[in-house]
Amino acid sequence: MSEDRKIQQPDWSNVERVLVIVAHPDDPDFTCAGTAMQMARQGIEVTYMILTNGDKGNHNPDVTREQLIAMRKIEQRKAAALCGVKSVLFMGEEDGFLRPTPEIRKRVTREIRRIRPELIICPDPDRYLSGDNYINHPDHRNAGLVALEAIFPAADNPMFYPEMADEGYPPHKISQLYVHGHPDANVIIDITDDIETKVEAILSHASQFAEPEKTKEWMLSRWGEEEEGDKRFTESFKALRFDE
Ligand SMILES: [Zn+2]
Repeated sequence: MSEDRKIQQPDWSNVERVLVIVAHPDDPDFTCAGTAMQMARQGIEVTYMILTNGDKGNHNPDVTREQLIAMRKIEQRKAAALCGVKSVLFMGEEDGFLRPTPEIRKRVTREIRRIRPELIICPDPDRYLSGDNYINHPDHRNAGLVALEAIFPAADNPMFYPEMADEGYPPHKISQLYVHGHPDANVIIDITDDIETKVEAILSHASQFAEPEKTKEWMLSRWGEEEEGDKRFTESFKALRFDE
């Protein structure tokens, strides 16, 4: 961990509910499962919102689209349970075509107003590339956009969707936002003690891994940083705080 990264210790003292907004089944497990586990152990109620149905995540011609959607829900629920996450919402948008439309913004805003999380975790909408061999999936960027556009200016503004207040979902303002995959991360969570469970959660998405043992080996050898002879694993976020 380099000295110049400004590390801000996480402050979850006023956090009771967290909403994780991502594009695909398995995205929460890759990006924030370790953090979600720590939150859940502290009694924080974590909800995963999966925006797309994951129906393109398959190369097996014997599996139909409908079967894959159903399998991926089961896999995500299993992974969430391993991490102490009790609730998973499947928003059902088509995999590969996620866009920040007015329709999905409204649906996400309704969930934010219903769940009333103090903290939301979402992807960085600006990340097009990563390293020198990876094009970021457009759904990941668009999941970031969908989340941000629902959080601001919609969720806490009574002029947006005034009918929702009548349905029992009045405006709601979050107090913290964690953006993952951001180059200016300022919250770095040590998840070393939970790395085995995180890998298990990722591998719960069995439809995605032809050779899970190899994938496990790869993840444990390629991830993490050596520190005084030990390997440390982290998850990092660009954290924003909003005053009351
Ligand atoms: Zn994904």
